Amino acid sequence: MKNCYCDALPYNHPSRPGPDFCAMCDRCGKPGHLRHHPGAVPFTGGYCDFHYRLTAVIHPLGPIGIFLWTGAAFAIVAFFFVR
Ligand SMILES: [Zn+2]
Ligand SMILES: [Zn+2]
Repeated sequence: MKNCYCDALPYNHPSRPGPDFCAMCDRCGKPGHLRHHPGAVPFTGGYCDFHYRLTAVIHPLGPIGIFLWTGAAFAIVAFFFVR
């Protein structure tokens, strides 16, 4: 289960770069999958596996990024207030 449109689009759909992929990556143009944004964002786009994970990590609303960014925000606040 990849949470993508591989199952929704027919294998010979013109937007599919190959049978194992359902879209091109919006970032790097490699074959990837049309997936919903990993974070709490109403956006669906093409992601290769690498950029999907990268988005999950660095995006402030991604499942991992949200912890990184709130952690960073706390660190900055602590830096200025706990001296
Ligand atoms: Zn797919
Ligand atoms: Zn990519």
